[in-house]
Amino acid sequence: MNHNFYKHESFETRVCCPLCHDDLVINWQKDNIPYFGEIMYISAKCQCSFHFADTLSLSSKEPIRYEISVETQEDLDARVIRSTSGTIRIPEMGVTIEPGMASESYITNIEGVLHRVRSVLMTASRWVQEDEDKFSRSQELLCMLEEVIAGKKKITVVIEDPFGNSAIISKKAITTKLSKEEAEKLNNGMIVFDIEKSEFTHKALENVQLLEGN
Ligand SMILES: [Zn+2]
Repeated sequence: MNHNFYKHESFETRVCCPLCHDDLVINWQKDNIPYFGEIMYISAKCQCSFHFADTLSLSSKEPIRYEISVETQEDLDARVIRSTSGTIRIPEMGVTIEPGMASESYITNIEGVLHRVRSVLMTASRWVQEDEDKFSRSQELLCMLEEVIAGKKKITVVIEDPFGNSAIISKKAITTKLSKEEAEKLNNGMIVFDIEKSEFTHKALENVQLLEGN
């Protein structure tokens, strides 16, 4: 990749589609996010159904952790950039959303992240209907989420990104550089719901998101 490309606001590159081997056009679009800096959106969509989207930070490249205590409407409105390398955690709920094969990047706010967590939880709760304990735990978590979205309950949202491509943009967000060891511990390739270590784990959650997004 030639760095001169970055001087243009948008451009295209061509590769071979990994699924059908047809020509695939990749769109690169530069944008500026206040208090974060320049980012590049990368997206591609093939006729064969293969698609891909990511967000790259053009300014920060360090492993980083953002943490925000969500208490007010202003916190719910805080902007979130989640790249495909970003891991989202809600410690109070035992929820971790790790980067997956089919994970997509998105720019949203904290409330948008909570809505995504809710839709993932709702899907997961249907899959554990047979298991009384896991099902009631998932219902508990859904109630908790509703209270947070309604501003009645406080939780913490954490985003960690080994490549510095994700962010929570808020004066309240606590930013910490991750050590090399911490960055290496961040997973790639699956999504885990560690609900009190109950092995409530599955790998297809991001696919659910993809279906809803289209
Ligand atoms: Zn294709």
